Amino acid sequence: MDKRIINEFIQLVKLAAPSKNERKVADYVIKKLSNLGYEIYEDEAGKAIDGNTGNIICKINGDPSLDKIMLMAHMDCVLPCEGIKPIIGEVYIESDKTTILGSDDLSGVAVMLEIATSRANNEINAGDIYLVFTVSEEIGLLGAKELDLSKIDVDYAYVLDSGGEIGTASISAPSHITFNITITGKAAHAGMEPENGINAIVVASKAIAKMTIGRIDEETTCNIGIIKGGLARNIVCESVFIEGEVRSRDENKLKNTYETIIKIFKETAKENEATIEIEMIREYSSFLIEEDAAVLLKFKKACEVAKMPFTTEHGGGGSDTNIVCTKGIKALNISTGMEKVHSVNERIKIDDLYKTAYLLKNIVSLP
Ligand SMILES: [Zn+2]
Repeated sequence: MDKRIINEFIQLVKLAAPSKNERKVADYVIKKLSNLGYEIYEDEAGKAIDGNTGNIICKINGDPSLDKIMLMAHMDCVLPCEGIKPIIGEVYIESDKTTILGSDDLSGVAVMLEIATSRANNEINAGDIYLVFTVSEEIGLLGAKELDLSKIDVDYAYVLDSGGEIGTASISAPSHITFNITITGKAAHAGMEPENGINAIVVASKAIAKMTIGRIDEETTCNIGIIKGGLARNIVCESVFIEGEVRSRDENKLKNTYETIIKIFKETAKENEATIEIEMIREYSSFLIEEDAAVLLKFKKACEVAKMPFTTEHGGGGSDTNIVCTKGIKALNISTGMEKVHSVNERIKIDDLYKTAYLLKNIVSLP
């Protein structure tokens, strides 16, 4: 294989930008795909989420006897991602360690452009392919949530947005809910009349001490990530703000864990004559792909043909895959080989870009 995909990836990471600011990457993708002769559609997600770019959708018409497949990657990157200077080594492409690399998820974008190029040059056969490039994945799957999948007629989908050996697919991911709790007690002078105050820090501490935090079981986790409160050393603290989350692949466990937390906070607040306000947001819902699902069987077959090890795993985080599955299209989150993502040590093997492209070419062309 020639160096086309490596060059594509290098061009893309130099344009990398954070969520809500994907314009440069999107313009590059649009130009590339229109030069190949494809029609591109940009949806209204940018406006809806207050960003400068919408999701980019491109349909590549194909052989009607083959499966119709959607490929998906996100265009935004986490910070620090401006002015990335990729360094191409013998084995890896890395950043200069002042920024992330952007392989999450511009490796996926590069592979999708490689598929489009191969298809335009008649190097591969394929059924209908929808290429979907989303925005603002990193700040809550915002672009994918705005996608109108009713206009996308496919049998199943592959999201190119995870790590691990090439041939690894995440067949599940948890649901995720986040919560904010405000505990309000009563301020008083800490030295002159502490007995007239209700200390919100103490109330929060009592509640948190009763909770189970961390790993609840094999498929459920819970965290308190932020706690803020207090005005001064000599004031009985009036109010405390807490941010937390619960994740589980099992909806009942998710619900039970969340409800237990809320019950503890409510009871503890009541016992201590404090008041409590709770806000809960469902960020996304879980998915699980069955062993005999076409999306998984095709992936397995493509791995066999490409002579790559086929592995499945249960994901611990959310991705656009959760949204696609929730909206009714079966999807796998597959590895592009990205490593140490969300850090300045992020890197990707040159070989893994080739391998992912090769595997995807098999996926789209196999009967
Ligand atoms: Zn990603």
